[in-house]
Amino acid sequence: MEIKSMTPEELSDYFRELGQPKFRAMQVFRWLHQGAESFDEMSNIPKTLRETLKKDCVLSAPVVERKQVSKLDGTIKYLWKLSDGNCIETVLMRYKHGNTVCVSSQVGCNMGCTFCASTLGGKVRDLTPAEILDQVLFTQKDSGEIISNIVMMGIGEPLDNYDNVLRFLSLVNHPDGMNIGMRHISLSTCGLINKIDKLAPLGLQLTLSVSLHAPDDETRTKLMPVNQAVGVDALMETCRRYFETTGRRISYEYAMIDGVNDSDAQADKLAELLRGQPGHVNLIPLNNVAESPLKPSCRVREFQQRLERHGVTATVRRKLGGDIDASCGQLRRKHIHQQ
Ligand code: SAH
Repeated sequence: MEIKSMTPEELSDYFRELGQPKFRAMQVFRWLHQGAESFDEMSNIPKTLRETLKKDCVLSAPVVERKQVSKLDGTIKYLWKLSDGNCIETVLMRYKHGNTVCVSSQVGCNMGCTFCASTLGGKVRDLTPAEILDQVLFTQKDSGEIISNIVMMGIGEPLDNYDNVLRFLSLVNHPDGMNIGMRHISLSTCGLINKIDKLAPLGLQLTLSVSLHAPDDETRTKLMPVNQAVGVDALMETCRRYFETTGRRISYEYAMIDGVNDSDAQADKLAELLRGQPGHVNLIPLNNVAESPLKPSCRVREFQQRLERHGVTATVRRKLGGDIDASCGQLRRKHIHQQ
């Protein structure tokens, strides 16, 4: 039993079965969510109970396998080693509005996007709720920096690990835990429409980011195999429904790739897709991936201006950690190669 993946209610039930008073569950919950690494640290928990917990439960605590600090902007990239030896990445970024942590949701990824380093070796396994939460807890603990925002934009497709990601969200949002508000959390997806439809009625106040990257099926399918099953029109229809149900506007990610998705005609098509739908486009300068022939576009500003002339709000993502392999999956990839 992985104790940090348990909700307060499940912990209460478990402690009741152990014949423990009710307040113990909350005491242990607080220890776990402060990043305790062993049951022995839990000094207000009786020794006999700590022994029982040690026997019954697994307490996850990742260790720093590598840590790279950017000289340019102070961004920190962690490579964590999990209990089974797998490694995942987390990035700590410092913005004026607060510290943001970018977390992974899976070990590897099955989505196969051609420009992304995370998917090169496929998916090894899903992360547990505790393992996703640990990235926030232990980044905060190791760096000594208070974390106020979370983006689920690291390795993996969060909606392909739906149940664990939802449980993580409720844990990290809990007032007795890290208490990070949903409005401070973004979840990025390659566009799994069934899962977006499943998420919508929950009405979570998080920001949904959809990786669009192309406004037409031909280009999008080339870049993102997941498009074959869905198609741009069905995806946009799903996004429209999501907005209608949740009232939350979607942020569309668009990595600018030289000669692939950066033409004026594609900007016009993109603006057309977004007509009548409050949304926002986040243009991402492509990060070079050694294994990929795709190159960054030089037309980012022109593309942005053209979108804005059509009345579409578009921002360009600032590049952080350019000197530390900070983009998706690069450090894990390098580490696997070196071993
Ligand atoms: N699986 C989720 C989250 C992953 S990554 C998703 O697809 O949205 C977060 C964002 O980074 C996605 O928009 C992804 O497409 C983008 N990305 C991945 N590799 C990139 C690269 N080399 N350059 C720029 N953006 C990249």
